[in-house]
Formats: sequence, structure tokens, C-alpha cells
Amino acid sequence: MISSKKIKTTCSYCGVGCGIVASVNQQDKVLVEGDKDHPVNGGMLCSKGMNLHYVVNDTSDRILYPEMRWSKSHHLERVSWDDALDRAAGVFKSLIQKHGPDSVGFYVSGQCLTEEYYIANKLVKGFLGTNNIDTNSRLCMSSAVVAHKKTFGEDSVPISYDDIELADVF
Ligand code: SF4
Repeated sequence: MISSKKIKTTCSYCGVGCGIVASVNQQDKVLVEGDKDHPVNGGMLCSKGMNLHYVVNDTSDRILYPEMRWSKSHHLERVSWDDALDRAAGVFKSLIQKHGPDSVGFYVSGQCLTEEYYIANKLVKGFLGTNNIDTNSRLCMSSAVVAHKKTFGEDSVPISYDDIELADVF
């Protein structure tokens, strides 16, 4: 048990990158609080970051092993990594052979690290031979960027964060 150990890390949810302090309590539950020394958030967290520990502590819906349906009418069943990867590779291969590399595409999580994006891009562009890869890192913000450009002429945070503290109503 590491009840007194506190680890400074970064919220995994969005690109703002708020600093958090994670610790484990006496019941072995992870606790999360805003890092008061962090320049981005000064100890504050939005509702997603504030509830991060619920997600960490609830493992009931966590995917721990590969599952697969042998066809749409089959139930989802546990399979080995080899079976899952062979099946995925086989389906990709047959589509590419039949319709060309641009018939497949990857939509990648927005929560990956730079190195993971590099590997995914290398696989898709360098190995499969298509540019059909994008990530939620871009799509998640693109609608906001377009709206800000149309409204303000540029992409920016529309207010000063200090105004939040000074406002009577927000
Ligand atoms: S606390 Fe909220 S704003 Fe900060 S990184 Fe997490 S999700 Fe983004």
C-alpha cells in the first residue's frame, strides 16, 4: 500500500493538459486532485478531470483481453491475441486485395502519445499504403476552431481565464 505516496501527472482527457496529483488511500482506491503548482490549471480541474478517479477505480467494464464475433450472428467470445490479430489482418488484407489500400482507414484515439501516433501512421501510410488515418485529437477540436475563426477571426480562447474568477455569474 502506498497511501502516502503522491504522484504528479497529467490529466489524460484533453489537450489542455491540466496537472493532477494522484494518490492511493488506505482502501487501495486511487484519488485525484488538481496540482496547485501546475501552471496550466493552478489546482483546478474541470468535471471530467475531477471525476477521473471514478473511471480509474471502476474496472467493471475494462477490456482485459480480446473478444470477437465469428460473424454478425455469433455472440461475442473471448479469443487469443493470435486469433484476434490474424482475423483483423486477414480482413484488412482481403479488402486491400479486392478494393485497393484506400478502401480501409484508421480512426485513432485522441489519447495516444506521440510515439504511438508515429507507429500508427507508419503502419497505415508506410505499410498499408493509404493516407486514410486521422485521430480524435484533430476532429475533437476542428469544429471549435472553425467556429472561433468565423466569430473572432482567429482560433483562440475567447475569454481571459481571470474573468471566470471575477464574474458574478458564469
Ligand atoms: S481537467 Fe478537464 S480541461 Fe484539464 S486536461 Fe482534464 S479534461 Fe482537459
